[in-house]
Amino acid sequence: MIHEFKDISGRIKIDADAVVVGSGAGGAVAAHRLQKAGRSVVLIEEGSYVKPEQFTTDSWAAMRLLYRDNGMRAMTGRMIIPTMQARCVGGTTLINSAICFRLPDDVLDQWVDQEKLKGLSPAVLGPLFGEIEQFTNISQEPEEVLGMNNRLMRKGCDALGWSGDRIYRNSKGCRGCGTCMSGCVAGAKMSMDRNYVPAFADLGGELFTDCRVEKILVENGKAVGVSGAFIDPTNLRPAEKSLEVRAKAVILSCGTMGTPVLLQKNHLANSSGLVGGNLCNHTATGMTGFFEEKVCAWDGVNQGYCCDHFRKEGFMVEVFWAPPDVIGIRLPGFGLKHKNMMSELAHIAGFGAMIRAKSTGRVSASRNGWSPTIKYNMSRPDASLMQKAMKATADLLFAAGAKMVTPGIYKVPSELHGPKETSLIAEADLGPTDFSPIGNHPMGTCRMSEVPLKGVVNSYGECHEVKNLFIADASIFPNSPGVNPQLTIMALAAYISDHIKQAL
Ligand SMILES: Cc1cc2nc3c(=O)[nH]c(=O)nc-3n(C[C@H](O)[C@H](O)[C@H](O)COP(=O)(O)OP(=O)(O)OC[C@H]3O[C@@H](n4cnc5c(N)ncnc54)[C@H](O)[C@@H]3O)c2cc1C
Repeated sequence: MIHEFKDISGRIKIDADAVVVGSGAGGAVAAHRLQKAGRSVVLIEEGSYVKPEQFTTDSWAAMRLLYRDNGMRAMTGRMIIPTMQARCVGGTTLINSAICFRLPDDVLDQWVDQEKLKGLSPAVLGPLFGEIEQFTNISQEPEEVLGMNNRLMRKGCDALGWSGDRIYRNSKGCRGCGTCMSGCVAGAKMSMDRNYVPAFADLGGELFTDCRVEKILVENGKAVGVSGAFIDPTNLRPAEKSLEVRAKAVILSCGTMGTPVLLQKNHLANSSGLVGGNLCNHTATGMTGFFEEKVCAWDGVNQGYCCDHFRKEGFMVEVFWAPPDVIGIRLPGFGLKHKNMMSELAHIAGFGAMIRAKSTGRVSASRNGWSPTIKYNMSRPDASLMQKAMKATADLLFAAGAKMVTPGIYKVPSELHGPKETSLIAEADLGPTDFSPIGNHPMGTCRMSEVPLKGVVNSYGECHEVKNLFIADASIFPNSPGVNPQLTIMALAAYISDHIKQAL
């Protein structure tokens, strides 16, 4: 059953086998899996249940409706790196690009080896990936909706002999309207609010929306439940309504920013000092190419093709597109020059580089409020990798036929006019502050390790220090995997809930 803010009054107290906090990639899968196995589950989500008919393609209005801190969140250090998370049923899967990659075997092998993880292997995760792929219809988009932007990257890959492919996505009936970031108006994206969450409710699971969990209840070293306050969706203020759930297993799936904040505010599970530490990222940045022919990049899947040729070297190049008001920010120039650039919008293609960054930062709970302070600096080695990735991105754009590329890198000319000029990227003396990246794949702030001093949770997602307190979200990644993370988060959540199921 789904309980929204308007349905709630007073103080609610209930018992369940398990309570799951957060309904994104990790939480939705965990809740559904346990409920399906016959356990009684309560799923609590701070945001509202927003439906496709409420979505808007006005980017800023969409950010106010769906994003945390109105989409203005940033990691700060020597530079500012925007990072976005959603606050709604479905979590960040509702606003993402639906890209789904399995965790590469070589990355899982590294994790198992470095963190002495038990039980996890490609053979164990493989069937879980398969199940999720089937349930969320993960497949390549048909040619008809690919659009020119994606076809151009394929052309570039073919010309250079670099490996590339149409991206696998969790969607059904994608129209290629490119509005993924503001919620899929076609209802085609198989984000958690469209499949795992309603399936969970259909199985008899109890979903409470608009409720922020603030306390983790612990007795004799064991988690026994959570409590939280309902947040009025009209003004985002706590109302005189509350929820307490007592359960045998507590599963935190509040995401890389939310889970460590909740643990820090409750002073739990942090002897290693790693709650909020080890903030990892796929630092990413976009580049635009101007073509003679019309690209109309808004017409087609926003991220439908990728070049994985350099994955083992630590970077991927993926097509990207965003609404014009967002793309405008990435174009160089002011006034008339910028206006002229924008008037060429129909001729612009967007490719983005994403690195498997090794730099780490920290998420810290603020004394007042629930928005954390996020510190992150890109290291010099990561800057060098970014430089290599951006050179490759420019090479791809020119190989696809671009007449001009705007690299968006300080110390490199704002316009490059031919393939020979991409050497200007390679030869520039670039450091971490010369790029303008984003970091929409934060991970690692409650890392998984069998070694208690190296991690917050063990191989089964259970906190080393608090029994029956589990974490199933991106925060448990030991480091960045180098591919878009949502499918891995879902598979690990399935793995963790199968373990919990046995104990309940
Ligand atoms: C614009 C954008 C595009 C992206 N594109 C892709 C992509 O194409 N492919 C991909 O693999 N990844 C993509 N990502 C990243 C991916 O969506 C996230 O990594 C993934 O959703 C994280 O899953 P999670 O379960 O850790 O957290 P989330 O999905 O963020 O879910 C956490 C949930 O917990 C809730 N919550 C937090 N605190 C509390 C609390 N105290 N009480 C109750 N509820 C709480 C939040 O409101 C949220 O709903 C993208 C991200 C962004 C921002």
